[in-house]
Amino acid sequence: MTSSARPPLNRRLAGFGTTIFAEMSALAVRTGAINLGQGFPDTDGPEAVREAAVRALRDGRGNQYPPGPGVPELRAAIAAHQERHYGLEYDPDTEVLVTAGATEAIAASLLALVEPGDEVVALEPYYDSYAACVAMAGGTRVPVTLRPHEGAFRLDLDELRDAVTDRTRLLLINTPHNPTGTVLTRAELAAVAELAVERDLLVVTDEVYEHLVFDGAEHVPLASFPGMRERTVTISSAGKTYSFTGWKVGWITAAPALVAAVRSAKQYLTYVSAGPFQYAVAEALALPESYLTGLREDLRAKRDLLAAGLAEVGFGVFRPAGTYFVTTDIRPLGLDDGFAFCRALPERAGVVAVPNAVFYDHREAGAPFVRFAFCKRTPVLEEAVRRLKAA
Ligand SMILES: *Cc1c(COP(=O)(O)O)cnc(C)c1O
Repeated sequence: MTSSARPPLNRRLAGFGTTIFAEMSALAVRTGAINLGQGFPDTDGPEAVREAAVRALRDGRGNQYPPGPGVPELRAAIAAHQERHYGLEYDPDTEVLVTAGATEAIAASLLALVEPGDEVVALEPYYDSYAACVAMAGGTRVPVTLRPHEGAFRLDLDELRDAVTDRTRLLLINTPHNPTGTVLTRAELAAVAELAVERDLLVVTDEVYEHLVFDGAEHVPLASFPGMRERTVTISSAGKTYSFTGWKVGWITAAPALVAAVRSAKQYLTYVSAGPFQYAVAEALALPESYLTGLREDLRAKRDLLAAGLAEVGFGVFRPAGTYFVTTDIRPLGLDDGFAFCRALPERAGVVAVPNAVFYDHREAGAPFVRFAFCKRTPVLEEAVRRLKAA
């Protein structure tokens, strides 16, 4: 009956103790370093959207449990967004589900759709919650590694094809891709879609950076390819698009059977969340296109500033086509251990970055790569570059 002999964390979650972000953010606080590790903007989103949240709070909209699927105004705005941007029609009542950020959408999707023993094929490096959620669902993750090729991390479609077995239940895709900044091309997505149809797989696609694409790169939702609408759960969120990461308003769009399945899991996770913020995000989704153009232009300039600075310091730089992260290679600096590099960087240079190895099962494949976030005010990025140059 001794409980002390056994570690409290269950076996499914062994190895998922704390995230690197907690460790690195603590280091940032202790050393006064500039935190380019975690990907949150250091300025809030549009004032009008913030005011919409205040108004909802004051008017008593959403202060009590909102409807399980999300408030009707937000579901209608999400459906309108998918139609306007991608020509994808979803019924707001049966094909849209509001979640506590994309994070809950990912968790609920995997908990709902994966049986113990099912294999989930995911692009590696992957967002850290994927591995934990596949594990919580009792699934087995099968990483397909994006590899550096001509200045970007690329998907090897043969490798993806080879990763699919009779036990594969679903493909977990992320584009624009965190941490590499890769945006899958229309041709690559078409091949992913063909594979999913051919092998009759479900697809969960994390598209939270759908609007953060640069240099003419184009985000194409996987759900828009032939045969995909009925097998795809598309996930997005207001956090990245509207710079309100603390509000945790996310959503899925999918066929009714998939939405019903995901809702079954979601209702026992948070049930509902972020009532007043849901009304505000409904207004955000209706902002004119100029908001998105301005956001992209601002971030493109910041990407260029940080990428150029890092290159001058001597990093190998993978110029991202999307997201607000830049992945670098430290080997040109004569180093190859990203973990050691990131642990030492706050003391040495007063800057925090994240070792990409934490996003890999094949740690060695990610060892020399380090991720910096550029969703920060320009003077902050300039100071970070100055510090890195001086170190
Ligand atoms: C930030 C992020 C999320 C989480 O989004 P929230 O809406 O904050 O929960 C999910 N996926 C990726 C790839 C992200 O970068």
